[in-house]
Amino acid sequence: MVTKNSIKTYLDFAASSPLDPRVFEAMKPHFESNHGNPASIHTFGQRSETAVSTSRDRIAREFNCSPNEIIFTSGGTESDNLALRGVALAQRKLKDATHILISPVEHDAVKVTAKQLAELHGFELEYLEVDEFGRASPENVQAKIRPDTAIVSVIYANNEFGTVNPLHEIAQVCSSNNVPLHTDAVQAAAYFPIDLQSLPVDLLSFGAHKFYGPKGVGGLFIRHGTPILPTQTGGSQESDLRAGTLNVPSIVGMAEALKILKDELSESAAKMTELRDLIIQTVLDQVPNSKLTGHPTERLPNHASFVFKGVDGNELLMMLDVEGFACSSGSACHTGNPKPSENLKALGLDSDWALGSLRVTIGNHTPRTEVDQFLSILPSVIARARSIEAAISNE
Ligand SMILES: *Cc1c(COP(=O)(O)O)cnc(C)c1O
Repeated sequence: MVTKNSIKTYLDFAASSPLDPRVFEAMKPHFESNHGNPASIHTFGQRSETAVSTSRDRIAREFNCSPNEIIFTSGGTESDNLALRGVALAQRKLKDATHILISPVEHDAVKVTAKQLAELHGFELEYLEVDEFGRASPENVQAKIRPDTAIVSVIYANNEFGTVNPLHEIAQVCSSNNVPLHTDAVQAAAYFPIDLQSLPVDLLSFGAHKFYGPKGVGGLFIRHGTPILPTQTGGSQESDLRAGTLNVPSIVGMAEALKILKDELSESAAKMTELRDLIIQTVLDQVPNSKLTGHPTERLPNHASFVFKGVDGNELLMMLDVEGFACSSGSACHTGNPKPSENLKALGLDSDWALGSLRVTIGNHTPRTEVDQFLSILPSVIARARSIEAAISNE
């Protein structure tokens, strides 16, 4: 993309975060001398196996679970796939349970997987209700859960509009009905401490590149006793639940990233919340016909998301990029054939609003000056995008 400003301000941490240099250092030896396959008997292999098991211990300590409840995967998407498909297939085999209950604002990794289970494998997919902020409720889960429900999946914190779900309460409903609950915590794990002794979910997905770790690695927490079948078959790695040689450098990096994150989180979360609220307040004050999407307070501390009436979100992103700011619409619009995000429509927004979405996500070290600069240009850029859109629709 052509830019007049070569210095880029990155405000898209929900899409991916930069690798922490300390994480890169921890990974390096495993790209160099430590090249053994962790399944091999010899010293090279054992060195890799030790790196993997130490990483598993470290991650389990951060999440307060047992190391053998953590399965390493290639990222958030694979973890969601394994959770949904693996539990659904096991539950059908075990007790003929074929009902799947998910929130209507799940990440596609959950939603498309659930749809495929319905279309190809005979499961019955039902959606929970959400309020105007995209929150599911324990009451609604209780109303819709059935004896033949195979799995419930409710996103911890939404990637598009930041809303955090009342997961503790939902988890209690699921556990009292003896139905496994999966949560996609890929965003949440980057900004909230997760304690799996106090949070009674059965499965939880996470991915390292959202918390300053490498891309292409993640994990799935599977509570002891949860029925699950492998979906990637082959060797006996990962307790027979995920075949394939482990990505040793990335697993080491993920453990290091999580440790650094936890050490710094309470301080950085407070800073981010302040900047987030500054962004939200300024936009709502200064941009006419603007709305916050997602919950005003029960949201990710780094996440501000909006819709602007009569604006083309993609056009706006390109204009911001030219100004030197990297943001997101939070959704997958197709150039030429813009379709509003299903998740924004589930919040009750019509196309006129939902097509003009903007997601601004800051990071642990985003300085106030960058936010100030962004806010100083945003209202005029939106005004320009709006006048272009008005001119096009008058043609
Ligand atoms: C990024 C993301 C994913 C996908 O994770 P990958 O590691 O990129 O595959 C899934 N769910 C949510 C909520 C995400 O933000």
